[in-house]
Amino acid sequence: MTGYSRRLILGGAGACLALPTWAAAKPRQKGPTVVVIGGGFGGATAAKYLKRADPSLRVVLITGELTHITCPFSNTVIGGFASLAMLERNYDTLKSRWGIIVVTGMATAIDTAKREVKTSGGASFGYDRLIVSPGIDFKWGELEGYDEAAAQRMPHAWKAGPQTTLLRRQLEAMEDGGLVVMSVPGNPFRCPPGPYERASLIAWYLKQAKPRSKLMILDAKDSFSKQALFQEGWGALFGDRVEWVPAGANGRVVRLDAKGGWVETDFDRFFPAVTNIIPPQKAGKIAAAAGLTDSSGFCPVDPATFESRLVPGIHVIGDACIAGEMPKSASSANAQGKITAAVVAAQLQGEAAPEAKVINICYSLLSPDYGISVTGVYGVRGGIRASVAGAGGVSPLGADAHFRKAEADYAFAWYASICSDSWA
Ligand SMILES: Cc1cc2nc3c(=O)[nH]c(=O)nc-3n(C[C@H](O)[C@H](O)[C@H](O)COP(=O)(O)OP(=O)(O)OC[C@H]3O[C@@H](n4cnc5c(N)ncnc54)[C@H](O)[C@@H]3O)c2cc1C
Repeated sequence: MTGYSRRLILGGAGACLALPTWAAAKPRQKGPTVVVIGGGFGGATAAKYLKRADPSLRVVLITGELTHITCPFSNTVIGGFASLAMLERNYDTLKSRWGIIVVTGMATAIDTAKREVKTSGGASFGYDRLIVSPGIDFKWGELEGYDEAAAQRMPHAWKAGPQTTLLRRQLEAMEDGGLVVMSVPGNPFRCPPGPYERASLIAWYLKQAKPRSKLMILDAKDSFSKQALFQEGWGALFGDRVEWVPAGANGRVVRLDAKGGWVETDFDRFFPAVTNIIPPQKAGKIAAAAGLTDSSGFCPVDPATFESRLVPGIHVIGDACIAGEMPKSASSANAQGKITAAVVAAQLQGEAAPEAKVINICYSLLSPDYGISVTGVYGVRGGIRASVAGAGGVSPLGADAHFRKAEADYAFAWYASICSDSWA
């Protein structure tokens, strides 16, 4: 026994977990290799916390990008009060401070028999354990007429980067009085409150710059995250500028023609000036290629260890996994990265995997000065990650402007904190 014990960490990033006490132990000369695929919130956090747990591990982080542009806070770019450059995160500190080997390139194949990952650069990396955090890909074509070419005219902006800039430019170029339409998919999808935060920040921009314009949300669902709080805020801030059309009121978009400039529900056709389509989603491509996905397109995992239920020895975290009641969020991905790092480090030491309860917190901005939040605590119950009864909660309805401003400030602080926790 190496004196394994646990301590609780309640970080600004909102995750609590058990870390081994041998975290600060003298490094062994040569430890086992853990490969991590994906350098977003899940993968970057897992890589860093593996090295924190056991500095002797050889940790290889394979990521498709030189810098990661975060989706959290990308709605502020669309709303016009932040720049895309503010959302860029690089891997310098993970390399220099934590000694992580960062490989830029796409993981193209996983050979589970040889325990090897192949990359687009032609290299292969052997592993003792593998953690996969590739985020999402889109189910192109599931919404009739929506493919990669259509996304150049009707952007999704659901992966931050050029698509975010495109949507912002379209809003700027639109004439005052133009109609903006957003299409929101059915569950599950990345960031359940994200579409409604986006609607709010677009409405906030319209209020300043295009006061005769309106925003219509065509939704494939009949309810949504923090609904009462969003609707209260929309009424107070934007009057009738925002219209939400639920599935039950014919809100689900069933087809579109990006060249023709229209979207259709079962009974109506709209010709918006700007159209934002958030398409149905699945786990990042490499997950399916490695046999990690089920018929939902996402990856079933053990809720305690995040080890794949389909391929032993591979852990899947972040948006790509099916995490029970935990939402697909940066906060969840970061927390799952920590759990999985602790589990993998312990297992490689021949120790039992620690158990952890974790927090997810999702802030949403309705304007730069108006924030709301939802928090949940998740443990293992009934074979899934389930919320702990009586823990967590949402912002109160009817709070005053001072309270909403404080929550907006907390949202900015949360963003700085979770980025630092993941990449620094
Ligand atoms: C508009 C918007 C707003 C959001 N706001 C919030 C918020 O306020 N709070 C919150 O908690 N969450 C928010 N989210 C959700 C959050 O962005 C995701 O849940 C989070 O990024 C998931 O982390 P991940 O590690 O699973 O995926 P990602 O962060 O997307 O990281 C995946 C990484 O893997 C890389 N990759 C993919 N495939 C491969 C491969 N084969 N080889 C190598 N690399 C690969 C990608 O390039 C990427 O860098 C928001 C999302 C959106 C769209």
